[in-house]
Amino acid sequence: MGIYFIQTTNKSSIPPNMQIADELARIARGEVLSDDWNKQIYSVDASHYQVSPCAIIHPEDERDLKLICEYSYANNLQLTARGAGTGLLGQSLSNGIVVDFTKHMNKIIEIGDDFVTVEPGMIKGVLDKELAKRKKFLPPDPASGNYCTIGGMIADNSSGAHSLGYGSTIDALDEVCVIYSDGSLATAGADCVDDRLERLKNLLAPYLNLISSKYPVVTKNSCGYRLDAAIASGRFQPQKIFAASEGTLGMITSAKLRVRDIPLFRHLLVIGFKDLLAAISRVPAILKLGPVALEMLDHTATDPRNHKGFTDSGCLLFAEFASDSANIESVSAKCREQVSESGFIVEAAYDDKSIATIWNARKSALSQVMKMTVGSRKPIGLIEDTVVNPDFLYEHALQLLLDYRENALDYVMYGHVGNGNMHTRPLIDTSSEREIGIMQSIAHKTFERVVRNGGSITGEHGDGLARAAYIEMMYGPEIFSLFRQVKTLFDPKFTLNPGKKVAAANQ
Ligand SMILES: Cc1cc2nc3c(=O)[nH]c(=O)nc-3n(C[C@H](O)[C@H](O)[C@H](O)COP(=O)(O)OP(=O)(O)OC[C@H]3O[C@@H](n4cnc5c(N)ncnc54)[C@H](O)[C@@H]3O)c2cc1C
Repeated sequence: MGIYFIQTTNKSSIPPNMQIADELARIARGEVLSDDWNKQIYSVDASHYQVSPCAIIHPEDERDLKLICEYSYANNLQLTARGAGTGLLGQSLSNGIVVDFTKHMNKIIEIGDDFVTVEPGMIKGVLDKELAKRKKFLPPDPASGNYCTIGGMIADNSSGAHSLGYGSTIDALDEVCVIYSDGSLATAGADCVDDRLERLKNLLAPYLNLISSKYPVVTKNSCGYRLDAAIASGRFQPQKIFAASEGTLGMITSAKLRVRDIPLFRHLLVIGFKDLLAAISRVPAILKLGPVALEMLDHTATDPRNHKGFTDSGCLLFAEFASDSANIESVSAKCREQVSESGFIVEAAYDDKSIATIWNARKSALSQVMKMTVGSRKPIGLIEDTVVNPDFLYEHALQLLLDYRENALDYVMYGHVGNGNMHTRPLIDTSSEREIGIMQSIAHKTFERVVRNGGSITGEHGDGLARAAYIEMMYGPEIFSLFRQVKTLFDPKFTLNPGKKVAAANQ
């Protein structure tokens, strides 16, 4: 674990896989899959890992899921929730039972004036269409939105371009219904606290100062458990402990999330610069104008070949401003002024349709990057999601470029620069021990620099299998010990999505 390049295989042996599948089929009404073809399909996500499950089940409803949890708890079997499997770090991979929510538990339960309640297998893009009919939107907008589920977004604390203006999934999360590993049901919200959540509150209460001193001061964070959000400024919001928890504390069966009105006016400017550093140097000034999105797309994200650090073939910034009043004109004019010395306007859009078309170009960056794999040479995502204070982003980017140049590595760079969230992947030959060593040493150096400067090793993609080994380095031993206590409180047998976040001693 933590060694990004190892392909994990199924070593599970208890009880025999066929017996588990038969038992599940007897207990639950949902379909059970255990043939080799389906195990292959569910053995991968959008990471480089491969882990084969012993069985897959599509629960029909909450009652079905409760029975599945009770069975796995009684028999010490591993249980891993799965949405669309678009996680980038192996979060939904397991050699135990995989619970797929997309087939049956995928509906909208209620849409209110400022909230929506959904089942976890709801696809974000489908929900977006329903909300748009009512001129509403759920702000976190991952580029994978056409496929990913709300359950996966909560469990990874996903974000997107507009999280700069409106926050990540954790910020929109008002209530969750969960089933704990032993099959008991709970609702978690500001006014909904059961015994276990009360114990969580008592566990965290003495550590408020420690928590506020050890968490990064950044606008997005998916590393470890979000104790800071669960007990922000002494206010207990238990539902937030499930955000970013990667299905290790409970199975979410429904969630209530806050939605917003689509703003009346939007301006999107696409600004060209000669290179990445010229673009990033303008980020702090543009941020002062209050954009709801500020994104970057370097030319390396479309063609990384022979770009071994410091190239000047162009870099784009995308700045969106939104408002319900016409003052947006003057803000967008100020932005043009701000960038006029070193940048030039490539495109400007003012209507929803044109704006969506331009965002799709930016959103396709990661899909393009993932196609860059040639044989064993892959765009490796270990350091692909760091977050720093945007004022420190220039120095951070410069150091990454120097590391790539020193090691003669091709690379890609793009990201949510308004949040200081840099997506970068070097192209590594995974059959070369030397290149794997270089990747690990760059990762160590990068994570240390990020943490030292008050940032996070992951802003939105999460820890999964790849970064679990770095969580303690990020928060230090005292907070990590709290994580272990939280995990033990919710999942005393460590059967829920084992190996993620906090591993049991024998995992
Ligand atoms: C091309 C591409 C672009 C992407 N762009 C972005 C982006 O812009 N921003 C961003 O933040 N991420 C992005 N991602 C990452 C990924 O899409 C998100 O993390 C997404 O929210 C995962 O959703 P999913 O349904 O695929 O979850 P999965 O990958 O299936 O699962 C993710 C985690 O959620 C847990 N989980 C799922 N359902 C439940 C449940 N009911 N209860 C408890 N736990 C559950 C799983 O156990 C797992 O730990 C991108 C990925 C790809 C492939």
